[in-house]
Amino acid sequence: MNEMELLIQEAGKCVNCGFCESVCPTLPASSFIASIGARGRVDIAKFVYKNGTVIDPSTSFYSCVDCYACVAVCPAGVNAGKVSEIGRQIVAKSGNAPEVAKMIVQITMLYKNPLAVREMCAKWATGIDFDKSSTILYTGNMYQLMAYLKSFSRVRKMIGSYDAKFARLIRERPSLIRALSRMYDRKMMDQMSIYLRNIVNALKKAGIKFGYLGEEEPYPGTFIYDLGFMDDFVSYAQYVSNLFREHGVERIITVDPHTYELLKYIYPRYVKFDFDVVYYLELIEPKKLEGRYAVHTPCHFSRYFDFTSFISKFIDVSPDTGQTKCCGGPDELLFPQISENISQRRFSELKAEGLPIITACPICYANLAKDDTVYDISALI
Ligand code: SF4
Ligand code: SF4
Repeated sequence: MNEMELLIQEAGKCVNCGFCESVCPTLPASSFIASIGARGRVDIAKFVYKNGTVIDPSTSFYSCVDCYACVAVCPAGVNAGKVSEIGRQIVAKSGNAPEVAKMIVQITMLYKNPLAVREMCAKWATGIDFDKSSTILYTGNMYQLMAYLKSFSRVRKMIGSYDAKFARLIRERPSLIRALSRMYDRKMMDQMSIYLRNIVNALKKAGIKFGYLGEEEPYPGTFIYDLGFMDDFVSYAQYVSNLFREHGVERIITVDPHTYELLKYIYPRYVKFDFDVVYYLELIEPKKLEGRYAVHTPCHFSRYFDFTSFISKFIDVSPDTGQTKCCGGPDELLFPQISENISQRRFSELKAEGLPIITACPICYANLAKDDTVYDISALI
């Protein structure tokens, strides 16, 4: 099936009841702009396939945070997140994607990192002795990039409506993006380095032997896939897959839900990817820690396994843990204000539990760490 047929198949089931609007985080975060909610996105998808046209759908499809909360409440089984994902692929193919999205994809294809800071992303590992092994620790630059994305967002807020012009300039002269390499949030970078080193220590303590690709380690291509640039994504996934093969990799230890999902479930749909992909906590013998925690479940883990049961082997969790609620992170690039509103609301919900807050994803941590009661799970192990 092509994208339009997939869109018809998914959005065509909608009976327009509106139940999905009650759980869609972007609707209240946008002050209830109908098109920036689950039903609005499905309505626009219907318009697109009925009229065979694309009416500036970038706002609605690109504002979806892919949390899939809508699927759980839809009586017709519509996944408005999936509708948005297909919608973005149609928009990207038509050439109408937002300029910033085009810029990020172009930079990633060129530098194998969305902000061309791959070398800087390896600095956290200075001084660590890694093994020569067919198993590698693959950070995908995700923890490290959060320190850059925070600064990048601040720059974009400052330039405001010149955002698209800025993106076009970088697309014409991609090397200019390297000026950002010194502009990172130092506190966030230090914290993320500590979390990555915690993970290394925990794996070593568990007796796991593993290597690390260092400055050669590429970003996994999450943005390219999420922004809907599928031809680029396939060629990028092929590059990453070949690189792993050249290094004799057999098993890949991932450290975050986005990379885990992409490598384990999405890459194999598009390229030959016969590596064993695991999440690092799966390799660590659970030892129950004292205390109780408010755990923010990463949306991309909750799609594949019972995260509450999994994390409960390590810590006692509050009842809120099982619910899929976005941290707002996926909107940070294109809709920073919506992202901030979602994360503020989610932080307040977690805070109301009166417990230390635990995240298990660098994007969630970067968005929810609004005070010093928020920790990445690696701080506890
Ligand atoms: S809940 Fe499902 S059927 Fe109802 S409006 Fe949303 S997508 Fe359509
Ligand atoms: S996936 Fe999340 S953000 Fe997207 S439409 Fe569904 S509930 Fe809304």
